[in-house]
Amino acid sequence: MLARMVNSLPNGLSQQITKLYFQAYSTSNTEAVGMYPKKAKGIKCRTFVNTPVVLRNQRRAHSTPEHHQFGRMDVKILPALKDNYMYLLIDKRTNQAAIIDPVEPETVLRAVCEHGVNLTTVLTTHHHWDHAGGNQELVKKIPNIEVYGGDDRIGALTKKVEHNTIFNIGNMVVQCLFTPCHTAGHICYFVTTPDEANDSIVFTGDTLFLAGCGRFFEGTAEQMYGAMSILGSLPDNTKVYCGHEYTVQNLKFAAHVEPKNEHIKNKLEWAIQRREDGKPTVPSTISEEKQINPFMRVVEPAVMIHAGAKDAIDTMRSIRLEKDTFQ
Ligand SMILES: [Zn+2]
Repeated sequence: MLARMVNSLPNGLSQQITKLYFQAYSTSNTEAVGMYPKKAKGIKCRTFVNTPVVLRNQRRAHSTPEHHQFGRMDVKILPALKDNYMYLLIDKRTNQAAIIDPVEPETVLRAVCEHGVNLTTVLTTHHHWDHAGGNQELVKKIPNIEVYGGDDRIGALTKKVEHNTIFNIGNMVVQCLFTPCHTAGHICYFVTTPDEANDSIVFTGDTLFLAGCGRFFEGTAEQMYGAMSILGSLPDNTKVYCGHEYTVQNLKFAAHVEPKNEHIKNKLEWAIQRREDGKPTVPSTISEEKQINPFMRVVEPAVMIHAGAKDAIDTMRSIRLEKDTFQ
């Protein structure tokens, strides 16, 4: 509702309003933070932490940060705001790193110092404040960093990309996938390494969530169907890292759409346990999404029947509308 309201306002004003909205969710607590022994290129790590153990006043994270190690690259999950995820993506061989949607720059810089990586790149999925709102501050701290994105409304943008724009970060190959609908300039980033067949990751922002999809703020059911087809054509074992922790709510809706789908039931049970333990539910995989995500399953008879729709696009439109008010 908020986003609908602010969509009609000038961009600067709407960014301010969404910033206040997301900041209102922040609850403060005090916790101990250890010393970070490593140095990170171009960053004065001591400006963040300068004694062995300090007490810092910081937001209580919604999930435990996790470090996922894959063949040639690592993903460090950095929870932010109320339910956002930022991701530090590290190329193991060159130590170069990218940050996806760094809305909380200080959290990012602390992780960069902790891991001693060379942060060269910001990958922005879309212009909403809870994703792009930290860009300006981050570029002030790391002057030569490149900021990628597909929308002129993204703060500090230096590299505007299009569908199938391809570039390297260290040895990692990044392919941009244009997936407009949630916003008109939304980009997903598909990342692979040249010599490791099992290493493929996609950062899906607010287009594809675990078992769900983003709201259609600036697009149509046709466009979301197109986005799901593009993402659905990625290799089945591609790991999906999305922009928010919405998994339990999404799976409850998925179970409502397909009560007989055992994959959904099992995943929901698993996700509830993960959340009770304060752990993130990302990543899923593309093949898993095809089994549990109703927005990837709009051609399935069970989903079409639930929607009472005659084709895939109609089904997409109808279940998104139902999800908008699903409790
Ligand atoms: Zn968004």
